[in-house]
Amino acid sequence: MQMMRQAVLAVADRPVVSGFFRSSPVVRGLVDRFVAGETLDEALVVCRELADRGMALTLDELGENVHTQEEVDAAVTTYIGILRRLHAERLEPNISVKLTMLGLDLGDEVARDAIVKVLDVAREVGGFVRVDMEGSAYTDRTMQIFHELHDTYPSEVGIVIQTYLYRAERDVRDCIERGARVRLVKGAYAEPVTVAYQERSQIDDNYVRLMELLLDHGNFPALATHDPALIRSAIGYVQRMHIPLDTFEFQMLYGVREDEQRRLAEAGFGMRVYVGFGTEWYPYFSRRIAERPANALFVLRQLRGSG
Ligand SMILES: Cc1cc2nc3c(=O)[nH]c(=O)nc-3n(C[C@H](O)[C@H](O)[C@H](O)COP(=O)(O)OP(=O)(O)OC[C@H]3O[C@@H](n4cnc5c(N)ncnc54)[C@H](O)[C@@H]3O)c2cc1C
Repeated sequence: MQMMRQAVLAVADRPVVSGFFRSSPVVRGLVDRFVAGETLDEALVVCRELADRGMALTLDELGENVHTQEEVDAAVTTYIGILRRLHAERLEPNISVKLTMLGLDLGDEVARDAIVKVLDVAREVGGFVRVDMEGSAYTDRTMQIFHELHDTYPSEVGIVIQTYLYRAERDVRDCIERGARVRLVKGAYAEPVTVAYQERSQIDDNYVRLMELLLDHGNFPALATHDPALIRSAIGYVQRMHIPLDTFEFQMLYGVREDEQRRLAEAGFGMRVYVGFGTEWYPYFSRRIAERPANALFVLRQLRGSG
């Protein structure tokens, strides 16, 4: 399964593949499963439905790797607009952002200046900004910028840690010490053996270990996984250790295991759904395809059918 994931991620960037995905009406159906529309208005309809079913949400205008200051400014305006709109609609102003969408490729200063503007508005509306973690080429800089931001915005900003990385435990301990909020994930990018575990069992074992550390000592950790074994393990640990249910939450992606999302919410667990929307859905979508052999096979069949 790890091999399938790496293979899909390896071809996803090729123009012939991305061109096909972007234009195929058949693939569009699958896109719609993971992406909550192209506009904020469309995404808000989904958010309201989720909120009515007792779920929390985090909204992400999809996009990454911008290369001009104009694009950075546009992303800042967009994120600020989303925070204000969520607040005005009496939905929780909670968003997820990528530092490469805020100009990390142009320099640390650019991304830092950009996200500070977003965090100021988050503070004003009582909101929260989660800094998604991207490929390992960005991990060090992202963590460094995050820690600086957290010193100034301790209640408004959180980070993501990927358990496939060897460095994950160090980062988790660092965040615990600083009281920073962590979303724990397995990791979605194709990473080399020099920085990341390749075996599923190693990634999962690391997840369980770090999850327990965070449940014991973390600041409102978010356990972001769809993996039934890890969710069972989390619930077992919480029950054994008498950990209050309001001290952590589960998180899942829009369109993935919706029955389980509902079941956990109904059982009294915090359940936050990550809602991605917008026109720049392709990289996000290709990572979702790579995560699940059935999705990847569906797409490969469409590719073959298209000649
Ligand atoms: C809220 C949230 C935020 C995330 N943020 C980041 C981030 O910032 N950086 C990052 O690198 N990664 C992020 N991820 C992705 C994460 O790293 C994994 O790639 C992804 O969650 C799949 O791993 P899993 O833990 O669900 O387990 P897996 O072992 O991949 O999946 C377990 C089971 O879940 C179901 N499932 C999983 N994925 C899919 C899918 N796409 N379609 C259909 N069924 C599926 C299948 O039944 C599968 O057998 C995020 C994930 C979530 C839920």
